[in-house]
Amino acid sequence: MPADDIASLYDLRARAYAEVDNFTAAYRDQSEYLQRVRTQSELDRIREIASLRVQFDIDREQQKNELLAADKHLVEERLASQQRFTRLAIAAGTTSFFAALALGYALWTNRRYHSELTTLAERDDLTGLPNRRKIRALAAELLTQTHAESGSAVIGLIDLDHFKTLNDRFGHEVGDDTLRSFAALARSSLRTHDLLGRYGGEEFLLLLPATSLADALPVVDRLRIALQEMPLAVPGTSSGGITLSCGLTAIKPNDRNVDKPLLRADQALYAAKRAGRNQIECYAPDAAEFGAPGSHAPQAASR
Ligand code: GH3
Ligand code: MG
Ligand code: MG
Repeated sequence: MPADDIASLYDLRARAYAEVDNFTAAYRDQSEYLQRVRTQSELDRIREIASLRVQFDIDREQQKNELLAADKHLVEERLASQQRFTRLAIAAGTTSFFAALALGYALWTNRRYHSELTTLAERDDLTGLPNRRKIRALAAELLTQTHAESGSAVIGLIDLDHFKTLNDRFGHEVGDDTLRSFAALARSSLRTHDLLGRYGGEEFLLLLPATSLADALPVVDRLRIALQEMPLAVPGTSSGGITLSCGLTAIKPNDRNVDKPLLRADQALYAAKRAGRNQIECYAPDAAEFGAPGSHAPQAASR
């Protein structure tokens, strides 16, 4: 039976006792009734408070959940936007990478073609040596560098002797082959820092950096002897007996450009030819007259 009903029973019985003037019992039941009603309302209040608290907790949890859901949504949105950005960045990066690759390849090809063209423009087709333009430019560089360092350098003109006769005897092909062989011979015979270029026909320009005239002589003479011993590309011939004449000159401090030393080297070459070929002639820099004693046909260089 519910507590309210029991209390009502006490109330009823108190009234009944009062009807029959049993006031002691009526008072006791009335007290019991009041006690129970008070307890009941107390319990109701407690229950109400508890229910309010529960409701409050539920509301708070709900609010918390809503906040969490909002946070989750925000995080998800951020993540999605980050993923979109990453995808875009990867796409852009990939595109840029391939674009950079293509550009790099184009630049590399361009540079290679450019360098091939430059090489072709600077190289003599037949011998593979620097051509006239290039060796003149290298001579100008050597002049500038020698002046800057107050050093010494030698330039020389080499001309193969009686080349016309060689062509006439064995044919132009053999002549070509001899020019090619001479270039190869010079590469192996000269020092690594010496430079040789084809100046025209069977004439060559030689550059000897950081070298005095005295030091230049044995270098060129080694080449002269090697050429003499070089076999001809003609069946049945042992030694070709091809010879060279060379005119050497040291670069002088007052040489403003390569024209003057080239002229001196040419004069020395002409002297070597006149003296009988197959020899090296030095232009004496301080001699009043070309061909000072000792400057012509050094022992080692003569036939
Ligand atoms: P010298 O001793 O006075 O220098 O006589 P040389 O015959 O060598 O000189 P000359 O100037 O009379 O003749 C040079 C010859 O070199 C003529 C030319 O046909 C030849 N010559 C020049 N260039 C080439 C070439 O590329 N190939 C061939 N095979 N011969 C060449
Ligand atoms: Mg010649
Ligand atoms: Mg010549």
